[in-house]
Amino acid sequence: MPLYLYNTATRRKERFEPIDPNDVRMYVCGPTVYDFAHIGNARPEIVFDVLFRLLRHRYGEGHVRYARNITDIDDKINAAATANRESIRDLTTRTARAFHEDVAALGCLPPTVEPRATEHIPQIIRMIEALIASQHAYRADGHVLFRVASDPDYGKLSGRSRDEMIAGARVEVAPYKADPADFVLWKPSPPDLPGWDSPWGRGRPGWHIECSAMSETHLGWTFDIHGGGLDLIFPHHENEIAQSVSAHNGRPFARYWLHNGFVTVDGEKMAKSVGNVRTIREVLAEVPGEVARYAVLMSHYRDPLDWNDERLIQAKHALDRYYLALRHAPDGTSGDVSPEFLTALEDDLNTPQAQAALHEMLNDLNKATGTAEKTRLASELRASGALLGVLQQAPEVWLKGATGETADIDALIDARLRARQAKNFAEADRIRAELAVRGILLEDKPGGKTEWRRAV
Ligand SMILES: [Zn+2]
Repeated sequence: MPLYLYNTATRRKERFEPIDPNDVRMYVCGPTVYDFAHIGNARPEIVFDVLFRLLRHRYGEGHVRYARNITDIDDKINAAATANRESIRDLTTRTARAFHEDVAALGCLPPTVEPRATEHIPQIIRMIEALIASQHAYRADGHVLFRVASDPDYGKLSGRSRDEMIAGARVEVAPYKADPADFVLWKPSPPDLPGWDSPWGRGRPGWHIECSAMSETHLGWTFDIHGGGLDLIFPHHENEIAQSVSAHNGRPFARYWLHNGFVTVDGEKMAKSVGNVRTIREVLAEVPGEVARYAVLMSHYRDPLDWNDERLIQAKHALDRYYLALRHAPDGTSGDVSPEFLTALEDDLNTPQAQAALHEMLNDLNKATGTAEKTRLASELRASGALLGVLQQAPEVWLKGATGETADIDALIDARLRARQAKNFAEADRIRAELAVRGILLEDKPGGKTEWRRAV
C-alpha cells in the first residue's frame, strides 16, 4: 500500500515517494534547551517517532535517517542561565539530559543523528557567506540579514501576504534593516555571552540558519521530510526554506512538510501566565510514559489535542485491556502487523484509526479459543503495537507495576489462600479488602491460583 502524507507546502495529502528508497531522510526541529520540556513539546517527538517507526518498517531499519537538532545557543538560554545563576553550559547540558530522559520515558527511539547548533558554527558561517556572495544577505551594523525581497517564493509555505508576515512575525523594526521583513542570520554577541569569531565580528547565529546548516550537513541539500509543530511554519520554516534554497542555487529543500497541531490543557492554551504549563516530568510522575504516549496518539496529529484527566484515564484503561489479554496469550515469535492497522497509519498517520484496529485485534484475541489462533492474534497485536511504540512490556510488569511491593503482595495472597483452605473466610475477605484499599485487584483462577493486578 502506498503511504500518504499531508504536505503543508501543497495543502493536500500526497503519495510519499522518497528521493532514494535506500536512504529516506527526515529532519525535525528539536528543543531549545533552557527549561524542562512540556507536553506541547512532547507531541511532535511522539508523532514523528511514529513516522520514523513506520518509515523503518517500510524501507528497513538501516534505510531511514532521522535528524532532530538541539538548539543550545539562544537568547532564552542566556536569560535562563542568568536567572538560575548557573553557567550556560551547565544549563544546556542539564536540560538536554532531562529532555533525553523524558522522551525515552515516552517510548521515543533516539533519532539517527542529533546535531547541536554550537557544533555547526563553521557550516553556519559558510552558508551565510554563500548567501552574502549571492546577494541574498547583507551586512548591517554588526549583523547579517537575509534579504527577503531577493526570494520570490518567500511566503509560499505559510501562504501569507507580505503584510501578514510582517504583522505575524512581530518583526522588529531595527534601523539597520533594509526592509522590516528581513531577518537575522548573524548577530553580535557581547563579551560576557557565548560568541564565535566570524568575518562579521564576534557573534552568534540566528535560530533559523542553524536548522538550515544542520540539515544540510546531515541530510544534504534536498531531503524527503521536514517536520515540526504548526507554530513553526512561520517564520521559522519559511525562513529555513528561503535560506537553504537561496544558498543552494535554487535547488529544492525538503519535499514534504509535516506539521502537528496545538496542545491545550483542560481547554485552555498552555501559558506560564495562566499557570497551566504541564511538563513531561509532571505527567510522568502521575502516569507511566506509555499512557501519556497512547493518550497523545488518540488524536490525529494534525488535529488540536486537549490534555485532560479523562484522556489519561481512557488511555490507561485501553492499555490495561491489551495487557490483560496478552497476559494469558501464548508468547509467539514476531508477528506481522495487521493490514487494517497498517492501512490506517499509511493514511497520513491516522493513529486514532490505528488504535481502533488494535481494539479489533483485542476483541478477536479475547474471543479466540484455539492456541494457534491466540498465538497469531497476540503476535499481531504486539507487532502492531510496536509501530505505535506501545505494548512492548511484559504484561506482568505492566499490570503489577514496577514497585518493590510485589513480594509483600504475594505474601498476603498466600496468607489469604491459607485462610481459605482453613475455611477462615472472614480472614480471607479481610486480606482481599486490605489489598483493594492498596489498589490491588485479585482474580481467583481455577486450580486455586490467584492472580493480581494494580487497579486504574
Ligand atoms: Zn528548525
